[in-house]
Amino acid sequence: MRRLTHQYIFRALTVAAISFLAYRLLRRAAMTAPRTIVVGGGLAGLSAAHTALENGAIVVLLDKKPALGGNSVKASSGINGAGTAAQKEQNITDSPEIFYNDTLASARDLARTHLIKALTDHSVPTLEWLTNNFGVDLSLVAQLGGHSVPRTHRGKGGAPGWAMTSALVKKLEAQPERATILKGAKVVKLLREGGRVTGVEYEVGGEKKTEEGSVVIATGGYAADYAEGGYLSQFRPELLAVPTTNGDHATGDGHRLAVSIGGALCDMDQVQVHPTGFVDPKDPSAKTKFLAAEALRGVGGILIDKDGVRFVDELERRDTVTEKMREVAKAGRAPIRLLLNPEAAKTLEAHVGFYKSKGLMREYESAAALAEDAKIPLANLEATFDAQRSYAKGLTQDPFGKTNHTNAVYTLDEPLLVAEMTPVVHYTMGGIVVDEDARVLNTDGTPIPGLFAAGEAIGGVHGRNRLGGSSLLEAVVFGRLAGKSSTAR
Ligand SMILES: Cc1cc2nc3c(=O)[nH]c(=O)nc-3n(C[C@H](O)[C@H](O)[C@H](O)COP(=O)(O)OP(=O)(O)OC[C@H]3O[C@@H](n4cnc5c(N)ncnc54)[C@H](O)[C@@H]3O)c2cc1C
Repeated sequence: MRRLTHQYIFRALTVAAISFLAYRLLRRAAMTAPRTIVVGGGLAGLSAAHTALENGAIVVLLDKKPALGGNSVKASSGINGAGTAAQKEQNITDSPEIFYNDTLASARDLARTHLIKALTDHSVPTLEWLTNNFGVDLSLVAQLGGHSVPRTHRGKGGAPGWAMTSALVKKLEAQPERATILKGAKVVKLLREGGRVTGVEYEVGGEKKTEEGSVVIATGGYAADYAEGGYLSQFRPELLAVPTTNGDHATGDGHRLAVSIGGALCDMDQVQVHPTGFVDPKDPSAKTKFLAAEALRGVGGILIDKDGVRFVDELERRDTVTEKMREVAKAGRAPIRLLLNPEAAKTLEAHVGFYKSKGLMREYESAAALAEDAKIPLANLEATFDAQRSYAKGLTQDPFGKTNHTNAVYTLDEPLLVAEMTPVVHYTMGGIVVDEDARVLNTDGTPIPGLFAAGEAIGGVHGRNRLGGSSLLEAVVFGRLAGKSSTAR
C-alpha cells in the first residue's frame, strides 16, 4: 500500500515536472518567435497570416469590421492561374509567360515588370496552396476579357471569393494558441523605434490599444473613399458620381498609414471602372451596386444597346468595354442590357440563381417577350442573333473582333435572362509601393524595415488596367510574400 502511494506521488511529480518544462519551452518559443501583425482580414491578410504561421511566427490579425472577409468574400468570377492541372485537363495550353505577356499588354506604359513577373510566376503554386492546404475547389476555368486563353478558376459551389476566404478563416480560427483574431479593431497608427516599424496602435470598443511585431498592411483599396478630401476626390473627382461595387471599408486606411511614415504611393489616379454593375429596377440610383460578374460575359453573355444591337467584343479589356458603353450612352442608345441564353445561364447556375433571387436579372420566355417589354424592335434582336450564329459557325467574323464563341447561339424561341448594366467603380490599381518581396518602399525606393503590404492596398501590379481574376491572385501571391518577409530576422 505504502509502495503504491510512493509510486503514485513519483508519477504525479514527474508529470508535473514535464508539464512545467513543456510550458516553459512553449513560452520561450512564443517569446522568441517572430511576431506578425496583419492589418485587414481579406484574402491578402489571411494569406499573409497563414504564411507567417507556416514560417514559425505568432500572428495577430486585426480587422476594423465585425466580420472578416472584406471585398474578397464578394469576388464572383475567380482567380487566375497559368499552367494549372485544371487547364491541362481541359486541354488549355497556357504558361506563366503567356500570362505575363497578357498582363504586360493590359498594364501598358505603367507596367512594372518585376511585379508582373512575381504575380504570374507564382500563380500555379498559389492555386495549389489554396487547393492542397485549404481544400478550395478551383476545377472550373473560364476566359475573361484581355486574357488570350481561359485561365480564371472557380469551383462548382458558391462564389469563389467566399469559398477561399471562408476556408482560410476557418483554418486560422482553429489555431488560437498561435493566431489571435481581433474584430472591430481599427488600426490608426504605425509604431516605430528608430527607423523600424515595431507594431500598431488600434481602436477597439472606444479604447486605444497596441500590438507589437512586424506589420503587414492588407487593408484593401480606396474604391469606396467618397469622403470630402478622400482619395477619389483627390485623384479622380469625376468618379464621385459613379456608383461602387465595394464595401464601405475600402477607404485607403493602409495607404494613409504607410504615407504617415514616409511610404510611397504610385498610380493613385488609376481606378478601374468595371463595365457591368447591375441596375436594380427597385433602386436604380443606389450608390452601391452588385457586380455582374465578368464570368457572365465569359460564358457567352452579350451586351446590347436599347435597340438590341451589339456594340463591342464583350471579352475586350474592362477599360475598353467601359469606354464603348460610355459612347453608347452618350449617343442616347442606353439602357445597355446583358443577355444570357439558357446554355450560358446553366454554366453559371449558382450566380444566375442569386441574381434572379435579388431581382437583378429577369427571365423572359422568348425574344418576343423581351422585345415587347423593353420596346426593342424584334427584327433587331433577330439580326443580332443571326449574326451570333454565323460567327459561332465560322461563316462570318465578328466585326468587333470577338473570337471566343462559347455558348454564342441565341434563338428567338428560347428563354432569355436579361439585366440592365451600368459602369461601376470597382478596383484601385494605385497604392502602396512595394518590391517583389512585398516590402514597403519609402519615397527614396528603399524598404522600410518591419513594414510589408499586400493585396489591393499595393500599387503598380496591374499598371493601367487590371485583368479579371488577377486581384484575388495578387491578394494571395503578395499576401504570402508579405507573410514570409515579415518573419525574416
Ligand atoms: C463585387 C466584387 C467582385 C470581385 N470579383 C473578383 C473576382 O472574381 N476575381 C478577382 O480577382 N477579383 C475580384 N474582385 C476584386 C477583389 O475581390 C479584391 O480586390 C480583393 O479581394 C482585395 O483583397 P484584399 O485582401 O486586398 O482586401 P479586402 O478583401 O477588401 O480586405 C481588406 C480588409 O481590411 C480591413 N481594413 C481596412 N482598413 C482597416 C483598418 N484601418 N484597420 C483594420 N482593418 C482594416 C477591411 O475591413 C477588410 O476586411 C472583386 C471585387 C468586388 C468588390
